[in-house]
Amino acid sequence: MELVEPRIFLVGETRLVEEGLQAYLEHVGVPSWSTDAPSDAEVLCEMYGRLCYRSFEPGLNPNVTRVRKGNDAYLGHILEVGHGSVLEHAMLNFVFADVSRVFTHELVRHRAGTAISQESLRYVRLDALSAYVPTHIREHEDGLEIFSKTLEELERVQQQLADAFAIDEESKFSVKKQLTSAFRRVAPLGLATTVGWSCNFRTLRHVIEVRTAPDAEEELRLVFGMVYDAVRDRYPNLFGDYTVEMVDGLRWVKTAHRKV
Ligand SMILES: Cc1cc2nc3c(=O)[nH]c(=O)nc-3n(C[C@H](O)[C@H](O)[C@H](O)COP(=O)(O)OP(=O)(O)OC[C@H]3O[C@@H](n4cnc5c(N)ncnc54)[C@H](O)[C@@H]3O)c2cc1C
Repeated sequence: MELVEPRIFLVGETRLVEEGLQAYLEHVGVPSWSTDAPSDAEVLCEMYGRLCYRSFEPGLNPNVTRVRKGNDAYLGHILEVGHGSVLEHAMLNFVFADVSRVFTHELVRHRAGTAISQESLRYVRLDALSAYVPTHIREHEDGLEIFSKTLEELERVQQQLADAFAIDEESKFSVKKQLTSAFRRVAPLGLATTVGWSCNFRTLRHVIEVRTAPDAEEELRLVFGMVYDAVRDRYPNLFGDYTVEMVDGLRWVKTAHRKV
């Protein structure tokens, strides 16, 4: 039995194909267009936005006599007016490790703009259990002991079931899978596991906003506060409108431009 803290890993992000972008800029008539975006994701979001109105430079569309200069100003305007669809083009890939099934069950409710791969507890046998201890339990004089003892007991139950059904002697993987799935039914909801989660930037903004709010669940608040920290400086023009207020020791990440 182990008591753990959730970990987040940013393992991937959308990358530009420079020669493809250059070929498109030549095609549309602005071969020397460039931007001061600090990341490929921000270049893409700006480029797709400008594509809509051909607003790369004044006169390219005869209706356009002025254009916003600079990635910060451009994306700031997109956030202000709520044209969030251009933020859907770039993706981020995360691994959330040592998160509970409480966390994963709430996470998967966000469907739009996500991709999910969850550790299979039909395949992966629970020989050792670990869990995050929520603040109320951790700070109560008896809470941690009750929590830890229960986790230890449930770990023993997993081992007893494995012995009783002699799963290690079973040769058919299909039977092992059925047994493993049966045993997990007596594992706790707080069990630490791993989920891979990819999302576009529009989705990420929405999920950060709703899952760091004070009425959200503690572990979700904790993890999405960490996610915000991981993306804030990496993509400053996509998250520059946020402010952070600490509530109950966790970040509440807020903006005037909600759910763009
Ligand atoms: C604090 C909190 C408490 C919650 N409590 C509960 C609870 O008690 N019980 C419960 O069941 N759930 C609960 N939820 C989950 C909640 O109901 C949503 O399922 C979850 O937040 C997913 O967000 P979303 O609906 O914005 O969808 P997302 O998939 O995140 O989609 C983002 C946005 O895209 C649009 N969209 C997505 N799918 C569709 C669609 N099919 N049709 C039209 N528009 C779409 C909507 O505008 C949506 O807001 C809770 C969530 C929070 C944050």
